[in-house]
Amino acid sequence: MRVSTGKATVSDSRMFTVVVESFGVGRQRRAERQLTVPFAQLQSLMQTIALKGGRIRVIGSGEVNTRVEAAAPIKSETAPQPSAPAAVTHAVVPVNLYKPKNPFIGTVTGNYSLLTDGAIGRVNHISFDLSGGDPLLHYVEGQSIGIIPDGNDANGKPHKLRLYSIASTRHGDDLADHTVSLCVRQLQYEKDGETINGVCSTFLCDIEPGAQVKITGPVGKEMLLPPDEDANVIMLATGTGIAPMRAYLRRMFDHGERAKNPEYQFRGKAWLFMGAPKTANLLYEDDLQQYLADFPENFRYTKAISREQENAKGGRMYIQDRVLENAEEIFSWIENPKTHVYMCGLRGMEPGIDEAMTAAAAAKGLTWSELRPQLKKAERWHVETY
Ligand SMILES: Cc1cc2nc3c(=O)[nH]c(=O)nc-3n(C[C@H](O)[C@H](O)[C@H](O)COP(=O)(O)OP(=O)(O)OC[C@H]3O[C@@H](n4cnc5c(N)ncnc54)[C@H](O)[C@@H]3O)c2cc1C
Repeated sequence: MRVSTGKATVSDSRMFTVVVESFGVGRQRRAERQLTVPFAQLQSLMQTIALKGGRIRVIGSGEVNTRVEAAAPIKSETAPQPSAPAAVTHAVVPVNLYKPKNPFIGTVTGNYSLLTDGAIGRVNHISFDLSGGDPLLHYVEGQSIGIIPDGNDANGKPHKLRLYSIASTRHGDDLADHTVSLCVRQLQYEKDGETINGVCSTFLCDIEPGAQVKITGPVGKEMLLPPDEDANVIMLATGTGIAPMRAYLRRMFDHGERAKNPEYQFRGKAWLFMGAPKTANLLYEDDLQQYLADFPENFRYTKAISREQENAKGGRMYIQDRVLENAEEIFSWIENPKTHVYMCGLRGMEPGIDEAMTAAAAAKGLTWSELRPQLKKAERWHVETY
């Protein structure tokens, strides 16, 4: 099998919108300006901006978050083209808009459990209002934000930030373009007969609506969705590793999202492998069932429920067992250069998946240790484990 190293194809008809500050002369230089150019002119525009000392705040294809526009006097010089794809290439992804020394203060708008009766542990969906920031704290699917919990560490120093994968799309759960949501599992472990609660995850799971929280970021370019509406996306998630996948799937299949993104009407195939210890620990199950009902040709969902299902050897069913069971098909998907694979969850899932992919590849006469770096180079193999 040959792996195409061609990255997402770029059509010359795409229009890009650049939000720039300190660019131009006189009053123009003091204001933020929004410039829209075809792809062919993007590079020369960026060179011109750099030569004239301008600072690029946002680059997006087609749409740029409208709240950025509302927050500052931005002059739109060319109307964005509605047909432009929603591509977010690596160069245009917002990063580190807020840093630990000067975090954004977000307000909690909701915090609820994602688990049902009988589940193990605690996993919550927590949303924050991001409005009012300058710059606006905006992000794209697949990125993470940092949370700095209140209080001090054992040395009396303020706590350090912890990263959390963003579980909402760029539009936020309410589609109003100014919220972000996380999927957080409370870390709990036993030490010397005592239960230790993780600092930040407990802070977040306990937090009340209305509370103010220090937020940094966004960060991360590893888990970005391909802009191609015809891409195929295989997702391997365990536990809270579902967070970025939830954002992708909403972008692909949620009706409100699709209405917001006329330029991204997903037509490819998405296959989610989800690992959880019990049925009661499955996350966002209602949404996933809805996508299955609404998009049966495009969405596939395979669960590995370790304490309730058995693998072929009579042991517990883990996500790697499901990968092995479906190896033939997974590899036929991977042979298609439009297929991307995403893995997210606890770091411990990696060896199992690697083993399964090695066996699956071998069954096809392939060597996974050679294939994986090729897929990585082609930006088709995306891993974020923690
Ligand atoms: C890119 C990225 C994305 C992430 N996304 C998410 C997400 O979407 N959802 C989510 O819930 N988490 C996510 N995390 C993990 C998150 O950042 C925190 O690490 C996690 O919430 C624990 O932080 P804490 O402050 O609660 O724990 P802390 O108080 O910082 O405790 C963690 C420390 O406890 C110790 N420890 C942990 N387990 C044990 C054990 N069994 N025995 C002994 N010591 C132990 C280790 O020293 C560990 O460093 C992500 C991490 C990264 C890097």
